[in-house]
Amino acid sequence: MKILITAGPTREFIDPVRFISNPATGTLGYLMAKEAKKKGHSVVLVSGPCNLPLIKDIKTLYVESACEMKNAVEKEFSSSDVLVMTAAVSDWRPEKRFSRKLKIKKPWKLKLVPNPDILKFISNKKNEKQIVVGFALESENIIENARKKMKDKKLDMIVANTTANFGNRVRRGQIFILYSSGEIKDVSDYSKKKLASLILKEVEKLCYSG
Ligand code: C5P
Repeated sequence: MKILITAGPTREFIDPVRFISNPATGTLGYLMAKEAKKKGHSVVLVSGPCNLPLIKDIKTLYVESACEMKNAVEKEFSSSDVLVMTAAVSDWRPEKRFSRKLKIKKPWKLKLVPNPDILKFISNKKNEKQIVVGFALESENIIENARKKMKDKKLDMIVANTTANFGNRVRRGQIFILYSSGEIKDVSDYSKKKLASLILKEVEKLCYSG
């Protein structure tokens, strides 16, 4: 199986030294990449800025912005069997990236424009054998919202998570895996390592049954 995994946050620069981002650590994506490699799969990791060491013998493409991530994913996807988008892609970016450090003393308004939705873009290109897995981070109605996202982004599987679990904080909330068959699995008590390993197993099943 050739598996393409995205991980970490993206950074959307305002000027050379300031950016919009989020506290995603990239841990789950990196764990999945390691586990997939251990199982003998061919792995490509597209990584946003994470504080994690390079994984030996895994092709890693480092990106910063959502647009860079989209380009890297687009390049690798056509030769992949699976895409797992664990990355917490910024939904917006500043309309303009200033080339010099801003010196604004007064309040000012920053105009944001939407970033491309990488999963939506990819799902419209995938063939019937390729498997696409997404994540949904929700403040409320997590199952309902994740289900909507799975349909909207034409996913084979989605991992629904609450904002209470996000970033480096101690896990407090629920996590579910939703399958396109309608089945739901509660994995709230799984460690990130156990979750990474289960997602990989499920992806293998989907891939080999197709
Ligand atoms: O819409 P939302 O950001 O909640 O969707 C989450 C899923 O979509 C994640 O798998 C994320 O990696 C992916 N995503 C994307 N492109 C974006 C925003 C999110 O592929 N611009």
